[in-house]
Amino acid sequence: MTAKITRFFREKRPDTPILVVDLDAISDNYQALRRYLPLAEVFYAVKANPAPEILGLLAELGSSFDTASRAEIEQVLAAGAAPDRISYGNVIKKQKDVAWAFEKGVRLFAFDSEAELRKLAESAPGARVFCRLLMTCDGAEWPLSRKFGCEADMAKDLLVLARTLGLDPYGVSFHVGSQQTKLDQWDIAIGRTSMLFTELSEAGIGLKMINIGGGLPAHYRDDVAQVDAYASEIMRAMTRHFGNDLPRMIIEPGRSLVGDAGVIEAEVVLISRKSYGEDVRWVYLDIGKFGGLIETMDESIKYRIETPERRGASGPVILAGPTCDSADILYETHRYKMPLSLKVGDRVRIHATGAYTTSYASVNFNGFQPLQSVYI
Ligand SMILES: *Cc1c(COP(=O)(O)O)cnc(C)c1O
Repeated sequence: MTAKITRFFREKRPDTPILVVDLDAISDNYQALRRYLPLAEVFYAVKANPAPEILGLLAELGSSFDTASRAEIEQVLAAGAAPDRISYGNVIKKQKDVAWAFEKGVRLFAFDSEAELRKLAESAPGARVFCRLLMTCDGAEWPLSRKFGCEADMAKDLLVLARTLGLDPYGVSFHVGSQQTKLDQWDIAIGRTSMLFTELSEAGIGLKMINIGGGLPAHYRDDVAQVDAYASEIMRAMTRHFGNDLPRMIIEPGRSLVGDAGVIEAEVVLISRKSYGEDVRWVYLDIGKFGGLIETMDESIKYRIETPERRGASGPVILAGPTCDSADILYETHRYKMPLSLKVGDRVRIHATGAYTTSYASVNFNGFQPLQSVYI
């Protein structure tokens, strides 16, 4: 936790639950990524955290943006980024939203199906389009598999069709899965992409861009490699498969840019046991799956959780949220431990929660407010 966030909690004692994000940490993460991967242009994945403070900061630092909807494009434009720094990266778009984005000046679009490509041809004539490849996402703690991308042979046909339809077949994208812990996944994906480049060049189409997606991790409970290790694996794969003839490279980090920059402070609402013989306590917080911690679904993302006011001997707990839905349990299989001295009203800190929390929080389930956040 950064000194700035520590000071904020100490001096302000804000109402909980609240996410506090240190913008300097995001700036540092952005600079580090630029330093270790100088050849890759950064397109921040807006969905990770679309706060205007973050978009404004990244726009100023020179970042471009990966967007998924009309509203996200509007947010990015409002932050001061020009439309040529926006990629409309969702492969599922309404025809009228494609037309709207094109009218606003967006010229880079993703697709993974023939029907989507035909929408682009109709409403974004001549635009640069890239095809998303299907990935298995092995090793990812939050996989983005199955639903997105198509197999390479279909991608090839679709990129040829793109040219026939008057579009600019510009490149290939993939996402190896979010919070990807296996560094070799990029090598597999980049290898497939380079084969596609070769096949299309034989068909007379010179692709120009590889979009290596997101997947770089934030630092949760389990150790992960640092960004420099990811960067060198990625560059090694790029030179292995493309040699000296490197295409334009785009990277779309979300989690790795903003995750570690935020900390949620929450409060213990209730501590109970279900029977006299049990030693496992149920600890209910004022935040749960619907309040911004949906990535605990299937206990996928395992946050570091700390009780700043309590130390000493600890015992097993089941952690749950405050709503009237039995799905609102955070961790049960993965046994978290908390001090035996824990009391109702104690504060709890949930670390590395700058990504995929505020943007995922429900609007009004059980009357609970969406997750509040401040950017300092
Ligand atoms: C979600 C998403 C990202 C960001 O992924 P992270 O793992 O958070 O870095 C990048 N690109 C696309 C297309 C996405 O859907």
